[in-house]
Amino acid sequence: MKKATGLDRATTRNWRPATQAVRGGTWRSEHGETSEALFLTSGYTYDDAESVAARFAGDQDGMTYSRLQNPTTQMLEERIALMEGAEACRTQATGMAAMTTALLCQLSAGDHIVAGRAAFGSCRWIIDNVLTRFGIENTIVDARDNDAWEKAIRPNTKVFFFETPANPTMDIVDMAHVCGIARGNGITTVVDNAFATPVLQRCLDFGADVVAYSATKLMDGQGRVLAGAVCGTEQWINDVLLPFQRNTGPNIAPFNAWIVLKGLETLELRAMKQSENALALARFMESRVPRLLYPGLPSHPQHNLAMAQMRAAGPIFSFFLEDRAQAMAMLNALELADISNNIGDSRTLLCHPASTTHNNMGEEGRALAGIEEGMIRINVGLEDPQDIIDDIDRALSKVGL
Ligand SMILES: *Cc1c(COP(=O)(O)O)cnc(C)c1O
Repeated sequence: MKKATGLDRATTRNWRPATQAVRGGTWRSEHGETSEALFLTSGYTYDDAESVAARFAGDQDGMTYSRLQNPTTQMLEERIALMEGAEACRTQATGMAAMTTALLCQLSAGDHIVAGRAAFGSCRWIIDNVLTRFGIENTIVDARDNDAWEKAIRPNTKVFFFETPANPTMDIVDMAHVCGIARGNGITTVVDNAFATPVLQRCLDFGADVVAYSATKLMDGQGRVLAGAVCGTEQWINDVLLPFQRNTGPNIAPFNAWIVLKGLETLELRAMKQSENALALARFMESRVPRLLYPGLPSHPQHNLAMAQMRAAGPIFSFFLEDRAQAMAMLNALELADISNNIGDSRTLLCHPASTTHNNMGEEGRALAGIEEGMIRINVGLEDPQDIIDDIDRALSKVGL
């Protein structure tokens, strides 16, 4: 295997993002294949006993076992790191494997974590139900409130953890401020950037230490595989994340890594076009529904902050109907768009968070997080925007809006 370009990492780092997305991290075998090869192998063989010893001792480069290294997986990791502007990246089987690994690898009994209230349901579940079992305390804050982060700090605070935009309330976190407070207090900031991806938002530029992904969403972008990734400095990945990951084994399958690798080639085109379609639909819907939250519209209370952090506002927004019954009737009236809880897909998908993705938070938790009974979250796809608008228009009319 050799680097396809014959170029070193310093050169590929200087490529512009679109070039990195298509060529970054590519290795080629002796066959000179155009598209990255898929290595479905769990193990490796060696020329002689001395070289396997040298590899295990770390004196010789090369693969030893696919829980530790796999060429296809490494191509994906290098490409994500380049696109993120991060020194290093490691991938995991799912977004939740990535979040769990990013948190558990660095937290110990007696530590304290501060996390944003509005978050993906399973992220909150880990903080409330897994970390607490191992003696890791938490404070949950309104992530939009800059002062709340500082007030929550204790002498044992190790990690700040948040999403921006948050799922599904579209809350925006002031990253420069919150990451700055963390840095000043020796706290590691972990940002779940699944909604935006590095194409729309580069968290490291705002002072984040670790960026974690559900690559299931926009990175794959075509609803095919589950995948996750964690990016950080070379030192943090090698010294903090890797000892945990190599021994606990949350690895992505090489086939799934390959799918995401191919997805990244079109990520920028999809993310920008889906953002454009979402903006057109949100503009159309704004006067039709009681309330709509899209960071790309001036009516979003944190519009200016969102647009200072993001290149475009992404494919996802939320809107509010009267109650659960009206929300469900609207979903049932759709003819083109699908009812689905996935996001980032090239198809337009709608879901009712209170009864699905955020069901496990309980009624009280949802009320506190602003996940109302009439709320619907939409992922706007790559269909012709006029067809999406027509479908939503028809469904809203059917429920009397
Ligand atoms: C989907 C999602 C996750 C979980 O990712 P999976 O790939 O489904 O495990 C975590 N955080 C956010 C913001 C998500 O949207």
